[in-house]
Amino acid sequence: MRRKIIAGNWKMNGSLANIAELMSGIKAGITEITKTEVAVCPSYVYLPQVNELIHGTQIKLGAQDLSDAAAGAYTGEVAGSMLNDFNCSYVIVGHSERRNNRGESNELVAAKFKAAQDASLIPVLCVGELIEEREAGITDEVVARQLDAVINLCGVEALKNSVVAYEPVWAIGTGKTATTEQAQEVHANIRAKIAALNPEVAEGLRIQYGGSMNASNAKELLSMPDIDGGLIGGASLKSADFLAILQAAEDVG
Ligand code: PEP
Repeated sequence: MRRKIIAGNWKMNGSLANIAELMSGIKAGITEITKTEVAVCPSYVYLPQVNELIHGTQIKLGAQDLSDAAAGAYTGEVAGSMLNDFNCSYVIVGHSERRNNRGESNELVAAKFKAAQDASLIPVLCVGELIEEREAGITDEVVARQLDAVINLCGVEALKNSVVAYEPVWAIGTGKTATTEQAQEVHANIRAKIAALNPEVAEGLRIQYGGSMNASNAKELLSMPDIDGGLIGGASLKSADFLAILQAAEDVG
């Protein structure tokens, strides 16, 4: 049985003051959450603050990105080893806001996936199609290409120490959630594609859904057989909403 994982992607939001408030709200409610794995992913500059605030709780820390390089003359980049210094367990790679707004190719995302694992971090590999691609009926092809770049570089076994997040781009931050059937179909196809290469890796792989998951739709999405958690943007910025999603995961997990 796969343990559900709910992660908050705070994106470029927050300040010292409101992160302290958000974390105190989350910590106050988190004691009820025992089955579900919980992570939060602040901006780089707030990792030290959140690392201190999660001390003594079960909350894990993640970063939103990392460099594909290990060290050296890469102005503005952050290496996996630096994330280790702040106790990060997870790092998001290939978020659509980086693929589509910062020009990250499938190959660069795969290199970041490898850099994460080289630094003993667990990559959360985001995949997902644009609305035009869904309408053209090529969702599975697009997602397969995004997965293949990683499989070609790292091998299918590397997925064992990773999480995949299926995030249809048209559902991110738009309030338009994929229906449970649409999400389940893509999740099942991802698992089947990996099972064709290695059934054991496929069975153990946790596949999160991301795209306007909130307190009202979380339970239905999370009860689908191939949806093993959520990557939460907007709704992770309010402790009550994030806790409600955690509770939904707990109820179905
Ligand atoms: C995300 O950015 O990963 C995300 C899923 O955002 P939202 O929940 O706001 O759609």
